[in-house]
Amino acid sequence: MGGFFEELKRGYKGDDSQHYRVAGIQVTCSHCGGQEFDTGSALLNTTGMTLLGLDWANRDASLLICAKCGHVEWFLAEPERI
Ligand SMILES: [Zn+2]
Repeated sequence: MGGFFEELKRGYKGDDSQHYRVAGIQVTCSHCGGQEFDTGSALLNTTGMTLLGLDWANRDASLLICAKCGHVEWFLAEPERI
């Protein structure tokens, strides 16, 4: 997992980050308050999720990775680029 995120960070390093909005609200990093993110996605379909009754999680999640601190915000909704 760490390797995956390191790869994402390396791949997106630079001035490619953008502002995003989810449900009409601009996304702000819950750790550092940054507003620039890079995007990624992850499949949430795991046996563990199903056992916990989280069948709604058996879908793609959108990841917004804070450009400043690397914190990852997870969304089941598709972030809108603004
Ligand atoms: Zn941050």
